[in-house]
Amino acid sequence: MTSLEQLCLACGLCCDGTLFDGVQLEAADDRQHLKELGLPVKVSRGRNPIARFAQPCAALCANRTCRVYADRPRQCRIFECGVFKRAKAGEIDSATALRLVKKARHQADRVRRLLLRLGDTEEHRSLGERFHRMQERLEADPGDQAALAIFADLSLAVHRLKLLAHDQFYTRPDESRGPGKLKVER
Ligand code: SF4
Ligand code: SF4
Repeated sequence: MTSLEQLCLACGLCCDGTLFDGVQLEAADDRQHLKELGLPVKVSRGRNPIARFAQPCAALCANRTCRVYADRPRQCRIFECGVFKRAKAGEIDSATALRLVKKARHQADRVRRLLLRLGDTEEHRSLGERFHRMQERLEADPGDQAALAIFADLSLAVHRLKLLAHDQFYTRPDESRGPGKLKVER
């Protein structure tokens, strides 16, 4: 196994709903086949329908391998995060790359723990969506001081994760939108 493969197997952040909310399919992707493989592909209504599936990805295994690797969509084939790109180019060594991945995973885990403390168990949703929904929930019903204090910690944790994602993982300026979302599509 190459060190780059080891890096992705230690990470999974581009598949588990941390960096992205979903994967958008392209014309060349076989939607029906991907559905048959268990990916919950949905097509939006409207003039320019978009086919996508949400993350955390249903094909992501516990050991962070991709269950549909041979048939994965084009966006999954071409995506390389900034850490991966720099490790591939030899700009950072594999220990540095692994350290960055571990740091991001640690920060994402903190976000998950804080969401759980606020009663969010929706692990089938992306982190960005969960934070956004929590923000809306507390805006509608602020709850008690303890909940607000946890939400303040959560906002800070999401902010830190976003900064790290921007600095080290996203490779295009349009890869993150709005304060409540880490990322919409890839
Ligand atoms: S975020 Fe980067 S290092 Fe992590 S699995 Fe995706 S490509 Fe690999
Ligand atoms: S299809 Fe595979 S590579 Fe694509 S998001 Fe899912 S687990 Fe990741």
